[in-house]
Amino acid sequence: MKRAQPHAALGAEDEPLVFERSRPGRRAGRMPVLDVPPAPADAIPEGLRRVTAPRLPEVAERDLVTHYTRLSHRNFGIDLGFYPLGSCSMKYNPKLAEDAAALPGFRRLHPLQPESQTQGVLQMLVELEQTLCALTGMDAVTFQPAAGAHGELTGLLIMRAHHESRGDARRRVIIPDSAHGTNPASVTFAGYEVATVPSTTSGEVDVDALRGMVSDDVAGLMITNPNTVGLFETRITEIASIIHDAGGLLYYDGANLNAILGHCRPGDMGFDIVHMNLHKTFATPHGGGGPGAGPLAVSSRLASFLPAPRPVRRDDGSYGLDLGDGNSIGRVHSFLGNVGILVRASSYARALGREGLKSVSEHAVLNANYLSHRLRGAYDLAYPGRPMHEFVLTARKQKARGARAMDVAKRVIDYGFHPPTVYFPLIVDEAMMCEPTETESVETLDAFADAMLAIDAEIDSDPDLLHDAPQTAPIRRPDEARAARDLRARWYPPNDHTPHPSASSLAGPEDKPSI
Ligand SMILES: *Cc1c(COP(=O)(O)O)cnc(C)c1O
Repeated sequence: MKRAQPHAALGAEDEPLVFERSRPGRRAGRMPVLDVPPAPADAIPEGLRRVTAPRLPEVAERDLVTHYTRLSHRNFGIDLGFYPLGSCSMKYNPKLAEDAAALPGFRRLHPLQPESQTQGVLQMLVELEQTLCALTGMDAVTFQPAAGAHGELTGLLIMRAHHESRGDARRRVIIPDSAHGTNPASVTFAGYEVATVPSTTSGEVDVDALRGMVSDDVAGLMITNPNTVGLFETRITEIASIIHDAGGLLYYDGANLNAILGHCRPGDMGFDIVHMNLHKTFATPHGGGGPGAGPLAVSSRLASFLPAPRPVRRDDGSYGLDLGDGNSIGRVHSFLGNVGILVRASSYARALGREGLKSVSEHAVLNANYLSHRLRGAYDLAYPGRPMHEFVLTARKQKARGARAMDVAKRVIDYGFHPPTVYFPLIVDEAMMCEPTETESVETLDAFADAMLAIDAEIDSDPDLLHDAPQTAPIRRPDEARAARDLRARWYPPNDHTPHPSASSLAGPEDKPSI
């Protein structure tokens, strides 16, 4: 069966992909005739002077616009359809947040403008800090980290500074075996050893195993709740006591904040350090490698270690920058972080308000539960518990009948949806992780469920539909690791055989996590 693609409606599907559009003599514009004296011959040192003209693509404006417009139509984005990529919170981002970020008062600011001219943005940041503290149960925030992983590293450096300030050198940080890949990477980057605590068969941390792992060598525990398989850790306060009693700190990976906004707070669960992924939970388009924001919140006893400077409200009511008391771990980003993303987050939180943010999480959890109920007959749930904002399926049964999780995911594209995350978390065989988010209607969830059920039936009727999927997309099955790492984004003139610098020659097997 061949289903209409969203991009088919735009007429782009039938055109072959032609990337080489350069023709000698074509131009998209003309430079004006030089009306200033040419630079003196010695203005550029001899060795740096160009002897031959650069070879540049020669394209007419019309061809250029057509080319990029066609490419954009072949791209899939959240504004085009359903994007249930688990662990990524690919939710619709209200345009209001874009309008706010585009206000000239924010957009045209220069980071070196004096405080007297930046009172508005400083006030916005101080108030956003209050909002994030209220949501997490923490006391102070740095806005510098540019993404979740950057927040993790910053938090771990603060964990280290805390222990070292007490003359306590600790070596290990515990993380669950279901953890997001950035967690062990950040732990290693911060100079700690990773100690992995196993999960039970029900998908929660094995508390007895954790108890046996703690010692005065453990700097802390890094965990997310709901955890990476989408389940709430019901024994979290017990877990917190085990770590605190051993002198360790608790780090909350807040990328899953979408599940708990306004309902419970990491601070009340016992956490000391929390990062948030504003680009996931608070209305910033992400996924294309664009700017993000991973602010880090800490409890008062860790506040003086935060990167400085921090925006503050002074006693006289004016706003300024606090340079700290000398304990700061130092800067992790220039100026105050990615302020444009912080403006989006602030306007999103203000537009929704306390009740609106609570209902975000209620609907995120409701949607995940609804979808998991519609799918759990044909596909097995990896864990029996009630999911929060996302759930993990296993394509074990499908694999036994001849189609793997990757085949199902590729076939989903033919039905006009972005596939779920596959082969992650690593502890689940043939994992498919779905995060529908709160922004999707019941009609969309039903259409996706119908597609997943139809695909399951296709395994028995016409398995090659899955093996050869996607049938309708302009690009079929690239080697995903190489497509990301050996991306050839630079134009080379025809017949130019300059070897292009390749980042690696990773030719990964298909069952790599695709998040
Ligand atoms: C997305 C995610 C991260 C990493 O965030 P980035 O902004 O991509 O660096 C960390 N932990 C979890 C659980 C996540 O889902």
